[in-house]
Amino acid sequence: MRVDLHTHSSVSDGTDTPTQLVHKAQASGLDVIGLTDHDTFDGIDEATEAGKRIGLTVVPGVEISCERNGASVHLLGFWCDRWHRGLGDELRKSRAGRTGRIEAMAERLTELGMPLTSDDIRRAAKASPSVGRPHVADAMVAKGYVANRNEAFDLWLADDKPGYVHRYAIPLELAIDLVHAAHGVAVLAHPWGRGRAHVLPADYIGDLVTDHGLDGIEVDHEDHDDDTRELLFRLGARLGLVRTGSSDYHGLGKEGHELGCNLTRASAFRELQRVARGRGARV
Ligand code: AMP
Ligand code: ZN
Ligand code: FE
Ligand code: FE
Repeated sequence: MRVDLHTHSSVSDGTDTPTQLVHKAQASGLDVIGLTDHDTFDGIDEATEAGKRIGLTVVPGVEISCERNGASVHLLGFWCDRWHRGLGDELRKSRAGRTGRIEAMAERLTELGMPLTSDDIRRAAKASPSVGRPHVADAMVAKGYVANRNEAFDLWLADDKPGYVHRYAIPLELAIDLVHAAHGVAVLAHPWGRGRAHVLPADYIGDLVTDHGLDGIEVDHEDHDDDTRELLFRLGARLGLVRTGSSDYHGLGKEGHELGCNLTRASAFRELQRVARGRGARV
């Protein structure tokens, strides 16, 4: 069984519609994908239907934009009750925070010599309900200011670059609690990617397990080098966490993240399902 638990569609900042994503997943030899768009469940129904038609399992998921000590971190929630009020309210606040600063980012980039309007960015985002920095990057590419999304982030949009504007994100502990309140399982996404180990040190991850019942940790991810994977694998074992792997596929939106490039072992997937049932999820 080939399982890729973390993928994005055009409902957030991927470039494939949920239906296209599911078809590509099957063509890549996958049996199960998690659809984890940023802060929204809007693609789940379409992906699930498309999966049913061709015999591919879609795990309903979400990648929640969180914050710890002012730094942004991501939490994956699987099998959540999508109609849970508390979770829905926080996701809405997070989407509003992301989209609400688009105007300010357009102004900032214009001041920096790259004239851009919020309309340019919205056009780049097409119908996404979750307009964020990747779409700002797309608008910059369309204007010819940068060659691709990566260059836009490296030069202008990353957290410590001049085009960055802060936004509301959900405190990480609260996000874990809300995922559980919605009967889902909580998995820390790429915790030590992009030099982020200092934001989520091992003993703090231990506290998340003890105090908030964190369920899993993403180990195999392109943002983790071999040494990091090894360390996280051992940390996860020590803390009793389910250890997952995924592509974090975004279509053309993220290079080197092809579907199935990292997988979740079948045993880990079954364990995650078992934990989810224990939390009251309908798996
Ligand atoms: P936002 O939610 O608008 O702050 O944007 C976050 C999105 O930007 C996530 O999808 C990240 O994967 C992406 N992102 C954050 N930092 C980088 C980076 N350095 N390079 C490429 N993408 C990034
Ligand atoms: Zn993304
Ligand atoms: Fe992420
Ligand atoms: Fe992601």
